[in-house]
Amino acid sequence: RAKHQGRNACRFHSETINALAFERLALENALRHALEREEFVLHYQPIFSTRTGKVAAVEALIRWQHPEIGVVMPNQFLPLAEETGLIAPIGQAALEAACKQARAWIDQGLTDIHVNVNLSARQLHTPDIEEKVASALEAAGLPPGVLQLEVPESCVTDKGHDSSALFARINALGVNIAIDDFGSGYSSFAFLRRLPTNSLKIDQGFVRNSATEVEDAEIITAIIAVARGLHLTVVAPGIETQGQFAALSRYECDQVQGFLFAHPMPAAEMTAYLRRGDIPPCLVPRE
Ligand code: C2E
Ligand code: MG
Ligand code: MG
Repeated sequence: RAKHQGRNACRFHSETINALAFERLALENALRHALEREEFVLHYQPIFSTRTGKVAAVEALIRWQHPEIGVVMPNQFLPLAEETGLIAPIGQAALEAACKQARAWIDQGLTDIHVNVNLSARQLHTPDIEEKVASALEAAGLPPGVLQLEVPESCVTDKGHDSSALFARINALGVNIAIDDFGSGYSSFAFLRRLPTNSLKIDQGFVRNSATEVEDAEIITAIIAVARGLHLTVVAPGIETQGQFAALSRYECDQVQGFLFAHPMPAAEMTAYLRRGDIPPCLVPRE
């Protein structure tokens, strides 16, 4: 009996592995098709200036509009895209689309627009990344100062790559780089000081707990102090509640982003939003 169960357990195990392998392969194929069929779309989420309450920039966030499944979120397909290298063409298509959208907004008179585009580790460490960025700008006819790249802290601390030199080459194009998910990696302040960047986005995990966990609030205080010292802009993303915002206000972030103010939205909705020039109620400046 034990033997019998053992054999079943073993068969079950190999079936699971086959199913997983199949799923991975199916997903990989589906991603290739999605790219050909142009099923990837960008949504945009505003980032607000805490001083004026106005939109300082919008962050482009990729979604996969699958014909049968519907909207697939990046966390469900980007890890495999990163592993298989498909992130290169998918990420490049997103970068190009965001640049074209920014150009369209400028052409419609929304001339204050700034667009942030996320880069993955693998994209950043492509040998010709600065040429890829330059070609996206050129194809869209976009002034480089309109674009900012968001690079996760985890991929700039990678010892095998010289991020400072890489950042400098991208900066030379006139494109700024923000460090995303800051505080989740292991950057030393000495390293940060040498890195040509002008803005830090605090890791959402600290923001999530800022209203309830003393330690997280302390980390935010420390991050802001360092950023101030290095003359960097500080962005607090992932603000969902008044409590989190209240906790953060005390630390004086330059910019805020989160569901409390506005969710990511399709381009057409973002256009209407920018045209209205809404200031979220809790960001209206006090006299
Ligand atoms: P990220 O750059 O850290 O983006 C922030 C994520 O938080 C987004 O998730 C956004 O929708 C979500 N978010 C915004 N406000 C709130 C809030 O108040 N509460 C909570 N809980 N979440 C909020 P999303 O859109 O699922 O994107 C996930 C990640 O996928 C991004 O993290 C980024 O690393 C990556 N990604 C997205 N678009 C692209 C792209 O075009 N290229 C590359 N390489 N990566 C991308
Ligand atoms: Mg980001
Ligand atoms: Mg993040």
